[in-house]
Amino acid sequence: MSSNPNYSFFQSVEKSFDKASKFTNWDLGILEQIKACNSVYQMRFPVKLDDGSIEVIEAYRVQHSQHKSPCKGGIRFSDEVNQDEVMALASLMTYKCAIVNVPFGGGKGGIKIDPKKYSVYELEKITRRYTAELVKKNFIGPGIDVPAPDYGTGPREMAWIVDTYASLKPGEIDAAGCVTGKPVTQGGVRGRTEATGLGVFFGIREVCNMEDTMTKLGLTVGVENKTVVIQGLGNVGYHSAKFFREGGAKVIALAEYEGAIFNADGLNEEEVFQHRKATGSILNFPGATNLAKNTDALELECDILIPAALENVINGENAPRVKAKIIGEAANGPCTPEADEIFAQKGILCVPDMYLNAGGVTVSYFEWLKNLSHVRYGRMEKRLTENLNTKILEQLESLTGKSVSDANREFIMHGPEEHDLVHSGLEETMITATREIMEIWKENPSIPDMRTAAYVSAINKVATSYAQLGIFP
Ligand code: NAD
Repeated sequence: MSSNPNYSFFQSVEKSFDKASKFTNWDLGILEQIKACNSVYQMRFPVKLDDGSIEVIEAYRVQHSQHKSPCKGGIRFSDEVNQDEVMALASLMTYKCAIVNVPFGGGKGGIKIDPKKYSVYELEKITRRYTAELVKKNFIGPGIDVPAPDYGTGPREMAWIVDTYASLKPGEIDAAGCVTGKPVTQGGVRGRTEATGLGVFFGIREVCNMEDTMTKLGLTVGVENKTVVIQGLGNVGYHSAKFFREGGAKVIALAEYEGAIFNADGLNEEEVFQHRKATGSILNFPGATNLAKNTDALELECDILIPAALENVINGENAPRVKAKIIGEAANGPCTPEADEIFAQKGILCVPDMYLNAGGVTVSYFEWLKNLSHVRYGRMEKRLTENLNTKILEQLESLTGKSVSDANREFIMHGPEEHDLVHSGLEETMITATREIMEIWKENPSIPDMRTAAYVSAINKVATSYAQLGIFP
């Protein structure tokens, strides 16, 4: 995962941290404590496969920081999993949570398997045994460490984890909060699927609402009518495209691995998705032009470029040809440090992954809160709000003698459902985080880029926690 062959992934995270810590005044000891991975649990356990053979499974859980409890971070199933990668990803979770004010420490887990090579029953056995190992060492629990999905895992695996945990901890009333990303029927929260794409939209919209930033970039204020290019039409890319289009921007190009398409009048992501499903390719979409290479999309003239597929796609080689004014890193690590330097020289604003794609962890936090409160969001206030709004509207209409349109009536009277509250909480989170990072950058213009400013924001928050906790004993 590291883009620099001279450093391991964990060392490259440490490098970014060191670059940013120069813009803070924290004690060296506090900075060293923040960087360190507090607990690394490497395990081996046997699993009997369907053919009767026994395989020894290698797995990890890393708790990078306990400055806030619990720790939080996904579990990855991949044959590339190794300790350095899990440590790096756990440390990035600490910084990500701090930036978006999610009160968790960073964690990450990994099982070194290619999930495609196992039957569903074998995967279930591996997941349940992994959970049991975590329970044995006190490495999981609603107040200790709360995993979530990552590469190769999803709601199904999270349901196995919560079921195993609850059966090993009978009577633990908050057991559902031991993991997030669960199916809604097992204590999950509505609004998780679209969370990352929606968070990307809220973050970029807030940047576009900043007059001084837009003036510097030579753009008008607001996201409306901005041209957007998106790479990847998976979960994050699809939802980013949807919310940009609904927000009044024009998605002029979409790229998938088989190619890219362009339409200056804008593309509808759902129609493109259906076309791809029917034909097996994004190409030849009615009304759009095919681009020769899928990477050509990254070099199109546009206001906003959203890489939402893979890491390292914008690098020292192609960054000089990028013409976008704003790059929104929806994927993890799409731009290399060499690209960052080129953007800084060219005056391109790169909005960093570490906070921009934090919608998933933010909504995981809401799921955990829901599990601890044992009540669905909206259950207590929906009817009260609707009754109150109905009364206010009736009074307004009778006092003015005028009536509002049906569409407005529905909007005004609507009491919040779970997904409305989750979206609203995410909107607040992304707006606040964007403003905090930009404020840090404004106060210290020698900070080279927004990524470094985001790290400074994270360091300040984690260091404040450590300083307030004191060093025990
Ligand atoms: P996904 O698998 O749903 O979608 C990825 C899409 O990218 C797929 O449609 C794939 O065909 C496409 N793709 C692959 N290679 C490509 C190429 N060379 N050019 C163009 N498109 C290509 O994955 P996702 O969940 O949307 O995640 C995308 C990125 O966002 C990853 O980097 C992931 O780590 C990151 N991310 C995801 C979440 C989340 O909540 N899903 C949260 C944070 C970060």
